[in-house]
Amino acid sequence: MPAKKKQPVTVVTGGAGFLGSHLTDRLLAEGHRVIAIDNLITGHLTNIEHLAGNENYRFIKQDVTQYLYVPDDIDYVFHFASPASPIDYLELPIPTLKVGALGTHNALGLAKAKKATFLLASTSECYGDPLVHPQKEDYWGNVNPIGPRGVYDEAKRFAEAITMAYHRYHGIDTKIVRIFNTYGPRMRLRDGRVVPAFIGQALSESPLTIFGDGSQTRSFCYVSDLIDGIYRLSQSDFHEPVNIGNPREMTIKQFAEEIIRITGTKSSLEYKPLPVDDPKVRQPDITRAREVLHWEPKVQFEEGIVKTIDYFRDWLARANER
Ligand code: UDP
Repeated sequence: MPAKKKQPVTVVTGGAGFLGSHLTDRLLAEGHRVIAIDNLITGHLTNIEHLAGNENYRFIKQDVTQYLYVPDDIDYVFHFASPASPIDYLELPIPTLKVGALGTHNALGLAKAKKATFLLASTSECYGDPLVHPQKEDYWGNVNPIGPRGVYDEAKRFAEAITMAYHRYHGIDTKIVRIFNTYGPRMRLRDGRVVPAFIGQALSESPLTIFGDGSQTRSFCYVSDLIDGIYRLSQSDFHEPVNIGNPREMTIKQFAEEIIRITGTKSSLEYKPLPVDDPKVRQPDITRAREVLHWEPKVQFEEGIVKTIDYFRDWLARANER
């Protein structure tokens, strides 16, 4: 009889967040045992309440900028802890810098001690307000280091640098995913990002707040597609950064009009000042993901957005009951 394959043990930092919790679900479905770590400053226990009692799951409430002690043998460390919405990192500039720098150092140290594979959740913000469009991984970016968004952008750029240093100097098996705008259930309604903001406003029939003239573009990826790309990357032997996102680009005004059409709301549009250093365009070039991971997004915009609207409708109904 062939030897039974060992069950992989995986640490997910930021495990109670939007992406960390979806990643956990996928890893459990793939047969992993998951140890999630989160200090719950932007993550939420409701994202993981369905895992209570799961014998393959353990939750540790901890700030990953503090020394990480995990006694188990570990095969993978997925480092997803960080505030990730512009409003969050404007309110939490120092925790954002610390989790990208000290938190990544600790998570890499854990991976090194356990001889585990390490995967960094990086971001399209590494490209800043890009002067090259669409963005390919070999573009170095256009980041204002001292602007209000710099705390996130530079923390993630440092995180990429230290990840590559651990790969080159310590021989750690590392991967870097650059995540573009992603949406889906378990986003926080009031995290300030455009998807929950517009859906929340549409569902309460209040005006949709467009920042600037709405001509800036974004490309939105449904969460299940993103998690599939990340899982594939974790199973690859590729060490350079890989963009994962949906190349379907639209202006923020078009996005607002789509939300109005799909929800059937009577909401109007309201124009507000554009935040400092808000990128004018963003669209991933996913050639590398296609070639290396044989990955591309599958969920159509309308399908993903309807699921997300349904999630927020339920969430609001439950909030009203409480
Ligand atoms: N935005 C907007 N209204 C809102 C929230 C965001 O027009 O209520 C714009 C924001 O200025 C940006 C885009 O939508 O141009 C996407 O913003 P988000 O906060 O989702 O993330 P970003 O892509 O900027 O990191």
